[in-house]
Formats: sequence, C-alpha cells, structure tokens
Amino acid sequence: MGAHARHGLAQIAADIEPVADDFTKGLFARLFALDPSLRDLFPANMTGHRATFLRVLDHVFTSIPQPDGHDDLIEFLAQLGRDHRKYGLTEAHYDTMAAALIAEVHAVYEPHGGLDDEDAAVLEQGVQLLTGVMRGGAHSDPTPARRRARVVEVLRPHPGLSVVRLVADEPLLFRPGQYVETQIPQMPRVWRPLSLAMPPNTQGQLEFHIRAVPGGYLSSTVFGETRPGDVWQFGQVHGLLRPDGDRPVTMIAGGTGLAPMKSILLAMSMNANNPDVHLLVGARSPGLLYDSESLAPLAATNPWLKVTQVTDARSDPWWLKRPATAYRALPLRHGSLVDAMSRLDLTGHRVLIAGPRGLLRAASEAAVARGAAPEDVVTDPL
Ligand SMILES: Cc1cc2nc3c(=O)[nH]c(=O)nc-3n(C[C@H](O)[C@H](O)[C@H](O)COP(=O)(O)OP(=O)(O)OC[C@H]3O[C@@H](n4cnc5c(N)ncnc54)[C@H](O)[C@@H]3O)c2cc1C
Repeated sequence: MGAHARHGLAQIAADIEPVADDFTKGLFARLFALDPSLRDLFPANMTGHRATFLRVLDHVFTSIPQPDGHDDLIEFLAQLGRDHRKYGLTEAHYDTMAAALIAEVHAVYEPHGGLDDEDAAVLEQGVQLLTGVMRGGAHSDPTPARRRARVVEVLRPHPGLSVVRLVADEPLLFRPGQYVETQIPQMPRVWRPLSLAMPPNTQGQLEFHIRAVPGGYLSSTVFGETRPGDVWQFGQVHGLLRPDGDRPVTMIAGGTGLAPMKSILLAMSMNANNPDVHLLVGARSPGLLYDSESLAPLAATNPWLKVTQVTDARSDPWWLKRPATAYRALPLRHGSLVDAMSRLDLTGHRVLIAGPRGLLRAASEAAVARGAAPEDVVTDPL
C-alpha cells in the first residue's frame, strides 16, 4: 500500500482484507459514536454482523469495477436494503453509515500517506452507490417491515428439537419452501433465518422446526424458554426451493431440513396433478427422526410421493427413549443421506436439498454425480 498510489475500489477491498477485523471493529465503533441511537438497533454481539458486512463490502467493491453484472449487484443491494428494514433503519442512518465507512477507509490509508484525490472520489462514489441503492430498495418496499405472530403450541418431539406453531396477526406472504428472518422476544435484535414448515394459509398459521444448537443464542433459547403467548417477529422472506413444472423431484432433507420440504409437500397435496417426488429424510439415529406421523399419511394418500427415512446409526443412544412406532410406518434405511443417493439416477430430476451446511455441499456434489444438471440442484444460501 504505497503513498499516493492509484488504488481503485477492488484494490481498496484487497487492502482492507489483511486488517479486516480491526477495520470492521473501527467502522462500527465510529458508526455508533456518530449516532448512538444506532447501537440500540443491533444485537450486543456484533461478531456475525461484522463478518457479513465485510463480505458485502468486498463483493460490492470488487463488483463495481467489473464490466458486467451491475444489474445483479443493484438487485442484491436493493434486497439488502429491504432486508435491513427489520432493524428499523431510517434514511438518515444510511447517510451516517456512508460517512463512517468513508472515514474508516481513509483511516486505513492514513499511515501510508492517505488516498489521493482520485481514489477518494472513487471511494465516495462506491459508498454512495452501496448506501443509496440499499436506501432506495428499503424505501420502495410497500409491505410492512415486520410481521408478528403469537405462539400457540410448542412440541418437543425429542431432546434437541422444538416444533413451534404460531398464528400471525395478518397472514404472511411466502411460497412453500421459503424461509423467513425471525426474532424471538427473549432475544431482541437477534435475527435468524428459519424455514416455514407449512404452506401459507388464510388463517395465518405458521410452523417452525428448530434444532437446539449447543451454545446457540436463538435455538437453545427457543428450546428452553419458548411458551404459548410469546410474540415472534418476522422480517423478509427468501428462498429458492421449489419444484419445477412436471419434472420428477428428489428432496434431500437432513434434520430440520425437513421443514421446507414438508411445506412444499403439503402444498402439492392440494393439487390435482403432481410430478413424482422422492423424499429422503435423514437423522443420526431412528429416534431422532420426527414428524413421521405427518409424512406417513401423506405418502399413503398421495401415489406420487415416496418417503425414505435414512439414519446413520441403527439404534438410538441410551438417553433417547422414543417408541419405535414413531418412525415404523415408513421405510427406514441405514447409512448417510449421501450414501442413500448413490443408488439413484437423478438425470432430469429437480433436486432440492436442505439441512446442515456439510450436507448441502456433499449432497449437491452427489446429485450432480448421479446425473442431475447443476442448475437443477437447489439449496438455500448458507
Ligand atoms: C436458509 C436457512 C434456513 C434455516 N432454517 C432453519 C430451520 O428451519 N430450523 C433450524 O433449526 N435452523 C434453521 N437454520 C439455522 C438457523 O438460522 C440458525 O443458524 C440456528 O438456529 C443457530 O442459531 P443460534 O442463534 O441458535 O446459534 P448461534 O448463536 O448463531 O451459534 C451457532 C454456533 O456458533 C457457536 N457460537 C456462537 N457464538 C459464538 C462465539 N462468540 N464464539 C464461538 N462460537 C460461537 C455456537 O456455540 C453454535 O455452535 C436455517 C439457516 C438458513 C441459512
């Protein structure tokens, strides 16, 4: 990083990378000093936010100088702006963010002689594009920034899983298979994406399947503390999991990855005609399979649907005391979900995958190896 060298936005992104941690800490400290009211909109632990912010900044600063892809970049930033409405950001907050970001980038170059005028102007334009398009996206969305729903039932099918049912004040608009940014009353300002496990309906009924992640803020709180009467809040809805026309569908669901698949299947069961669907649902041991009592009648009454349960272990750990009747109504195979895919021919199939991070990667690779076209293998973003 030489004094007065010509940098450009992509080089600025590269120069920030080695000092990324200090940069984002300094940026948010500067932001909250400029407008202390902003501090109340974000969670106490900013680690995740800082990492996400850096990824976005890097993407924007490296994309702007590229000759193509600007429409995608604009749509990405507008969507980010729509997403950020859930924090309660105002138009003025974007000006504060622009000022803090420009000042923090200058601070990186200060010890090295500073940015020259031309690079300072490029930086200013890049930051104004980032904040301006986000602000425009937020401003042009006429839907409410947040929706609310009241918890009506909490089930705990096994130690480590909560099934939470709610009724929304106003029905949420979403497609079966999508997920929604969610906040629970015990964890104000903490938002996590959760898959909707039921299709949209006029009564505003919602269902979520939440695995208790050890040490996890939201999931372990849901497991320990969520009660009927709690009011949950929801931000933007996203997600690409869905069938495509009349092509056969293979669904790979690990753990609570069952939630979006169940939503899609319940919606399909209301149609007269459906493509063939094979759902492979996996868990570590038989007693950790859940919702077989919904899946078994669905498979029995819909000839287009086949469900196969797959578990890594043949028997449950000693602490898990669940009756085998919970999962006996459906076929059960042993091995991993990826092993189970090795017998399938997925040529021409639409393959939908949901579940833990490692499964998404491994099952996507296995699907392509079994003949699926890469563009037909769909997962939600990690
Ligand atoms: C598209 C999508 C859909 C999803 N759908 C569902 C769903 O339907 N059901 C579901 O259960 N989950 C779902 N998730 C996952 C969910 O969003 C959360 O990531 C999950 O519930 C864990 O959140 P948490 O707040 O409990 O954990 P976090 O607090 O985010 O922690 C996650 C892990 O990091 C560790 N950790 C946290 N803080 C620190 C720290 N400071 N230092 C070191 N380690 C730390 C924790 O111990 C834990 O192991 C989905 C995710 C995506 C991306």
